[in-house]
Amino acid sequence: MTTCPECNDTGERDSGGEHPWGEPVYVPCDCKDAEIGRQWRDNSSLEKWFPLTAERLARLEAENAALKHDLQYARDGLTKGRTRMREDNERLAREAHTWSKAAETYAAELERHKPLMQAVEWILEDGHMNQEHLARLRAAWEGA
Ligand SMILES: [Zn+2]
Repeated sequence: MTTCPECNDTGERDSGGEHPWGEPVYVPCDCKDAEIGRQWRDNSSLEKWFPLTAERLARLEAENAALKHDLQYARDGLTKGRTRMREDNERLAREAHTWSKAAETYAAELERHKPLMQAVEWILEDGHMNQEHLARLRAAWEGA
């Protein structure tokens, strides 16, 4: 910065006027403002004019980026967990259906064999087999 030709860096320049008692009238010089304006036009970055704000902004941006990253990670984990849970539920539902169908099949089979078991039970109770036993056994066998 060169010396101001208007005020010689005093901050006050001669207005050209004169007081009644003969002294020159000084007015504030705008050279400091002009210098600030020149520097502003040269570089108006946040870092230069508001260094604390710029540092804080950079830190907040970094924190924000880290939080975004963590949030995305958590969201991905949640989505994966939800998908896995849904797959588990679907698998369990299929297994439950299979077991239910098997139980129905075995129950039906048991029901189908009941007359046959009853016929055998009668023979065992009586201790021998007669024509009636044989007829019941045959009917039960054919029914099963
Ligand atoms: Zn000046």
